[in-house]
Amino acid sequence: MAADSSISIKTPEELKIMREAGMILASVVVEAKCSLKSGVTTREIDQRAEEFIKAQKVIPAFKGYRGFPGCVCLSVNEEVVHGIPGDRILKDGDIVSLDVGIIYKGYYSDMAVTVGIGTVSKDLQRLMDVTAESLQQGIDQARAGNHLSDISHAIQKYVEANQFSIVREFVGHGIGKHLHEDPEIPNFGPPHKGPVLKEGMVLAIEPMVNLGKSPTQISDDSWTVTTEDGKPSAHFEHTVAIRSDGPEILTK
Ligand code: MG
Repeated sequence: MAADSSISIKTPEELKIMREAGMILASVVVEAKCSLKSGVTTREIDQRAEEFIKAQKVIPAFKGYRGFPGCVCLSVNEEVVHGIPGDRILKDGDIVSLDVGIIYKGYYSDMAVTVGIGTVSKDLQRLMDVTAESLQQGIDQARAGNHLSDISHAIQKYVEANQFSIVREFVGHGIGKHLHEDPEIPNFGPPHKGPVLKEGMVLAIEPMVNLGKSPTQISDDSWTVTTEDGKPSAHFEHTVAIRSDGPEILTK
């Protein structure tokens, strides 16, 4: 766990830039969601997102990050995160996680949503709804004076009360001038542990939730994370600033 002092505190000027970055990123996600439909490949979705990102005059943060080939991580069904855009064709009943980052005026913003293609099963709809609500439960704990693990605990508690599993191998993170800053934010753990949260911290909170069991594995492409049991997974993420009056979702 990162030491308290290693978590950067953003100035009001930095928060203003990160708020603008978040608004632009949210518009990118809305645009990308519109291109999610049965019959399109994940590569086509990535290409359209890249055009839109460049039209906003911002930089796609994931493209080239440690060699990642796309602008968007597109993870279908049993894919948890870090899916490489490619030839996979979306079909009715799939769920797709769309994870995007941008750089604006030197600051990063990071966001993910999971969307159903056409008509999805009740189980998958519930998986997406519970994952989205678990993110909100975590965000509600992102308050000055709370401990970092209050976020982790709230997410785990909500997910497990709904009989789904939390992914443990991947975590949320601080964000700012770098995509991944301290602290790491697990989506599980006991409450009241870790650093005390302070006004001006900015966190990317991102629960990944499995319909089946928790364990994941990395595919032969060395990026795509899938569930070990092959069952579907959902992922939601917001970039959140801790303000004096509570959490502020920057990627709105
Ligand atoms: Mg992230």
